[in-house]
Amino acid sequence: MKGVKKENLPSKICIMCHRPFAWRKKWEKNWNEVKYCSDRCRNKKLEDRDYAFRK
Ligand SMILES: [Zn+2]
Repeated sequence: MKGVKKENLPSKICIMCHRPFAWRKKWEKNWNEVKYCSDRCRNKKLEDRDYAFRK
């Protein structure tokens, strides 16, 4: 991502909270697979799945 201005960073819509979020350094290797804006959203998904399992 060298030479890319902050305003031009790629962004996506979080599939959990439906809010847009911008590219981050920690995602540089797996940006194509990123679906959630944060660990909180990703964990929420997992919790929901676990809950369904236990039901
Ligand atoms: Zn989110």
